[in-house]
Amino acid sequence: MEARIQSVKSSAVEECSKIESLAQLQQLWVKYLGKKGEVTQLLRSMGSIPADQRPVVGQMVNQLKVELEQLYEQKEAELEKQIQQKRLQEEALDITLPGRKPKIGSLHPLTLVLNEIKQIFISMGYQAVEGPEIELDYYNFEALNIPKDHPARDMQDTFYITEDFLLRSHTSPVQIHVMERQDPPVRIIVPGKVYRADSDLTHSPMFHQVEGLLVDAGITFADLKGTLEAFAKAMFGPETRIRFRPSYFPFTEPSAEVDVSCIICRGTGCKVCSNTGWLEILGSGMVDPRVLEKVGYDTEKVSGLAFGMGIERVAMLKYGINDIRLFFTNDQRFLHQFK
Ligand SMILES: [Zn+2]
Repeated sequence: MEARIQSVKSSAVEECSKIESLAQLQQLWVKYLGKKGEVTQLLRSMGSIPADQRPVVGQMVNQLKVELEQLYEQKEAELEKQIQQKRLQEEALDITLPGRKPKIGSLHPLTLVLNEIKQIFISMGYQAVEGPEIELDYYNFEALNIPKDHPARDMQDTFYITEDFLLRSHTSPVQIHVMERQDPPVRIIVPGKVYRADSDLTHSPMFHQVEGLLVDAGITFADLKGTLEAFAKAMFGPETRIRFRPSYFPFTEPSAEVDVSCIICRGTGCKVCSNTGWLEILGSGMVDPRVLEKVGYDTEKVSGLAFGMGIERVAMLKYGINDIRLFFTNDQRFLHQFK
């Protein structure tokens, strides 16, 4: 019996030393310590040995059971440690690799230019307001002295939604909304998207305007001139000059186109200014009294000045961009240049 116990022990220990996985260990456990395992069989066969030897042999078998249990638990811990180390090695990060830089965006050139324009007028006491892009025909045209049969409607070929609703062709309707809500004085700039059925290198069906309106007692053309000269110098540099050319807009009288001295050649003549030394930058004029009367203002007491410009046009001149579509195709090679 003792020899049998020794033989079970030595084979159990030897097999254990060859174990390489937890699954194998599990099998070994069953083979020796399971319900039908060899050690269990030894305990069962106790009945066949003489009674006086039983306590000694029984103790030996029990000792073997305890030893094997300890051995297998130790083996199990060893195997688990190996597995963990292997996993740690496999999942190790190479922290010496250079990192990937996150792509950081920047403000769009049109936003940069608009912010600059806004800043200049806000510093003069103007307030920036916005309005709807879908407008009633009345606000886009009629309230601005452009009745249905007026030829100026052709200049602003518009996207109609219904006969009465359209995509605004300029930001001027916001002037009417503000004046309807508020008594003079009014001192606003209106930035926003506008729409016209027009598309080529310098025209986009959607573009941005910013316009200004000042209505108060005693506003004259001198105020218009002074305001726009101060703007041009702040926007394009202190040596910038401006000139007024007579023009026509239905909602201002008199009206003027305003040129600034060429920001590329400083007035000596170049390709950008077609050798004239001047760049056309905005439209302006004194608000037609009929527009003021329509919103109920007393034109004996107040008068107004208005001006408007395309933000794309200013950005194209400022940055020397020759195709308006670059603003809207969102090519990163283009946009990254304005960081
Ligand atoms: Zn020039």
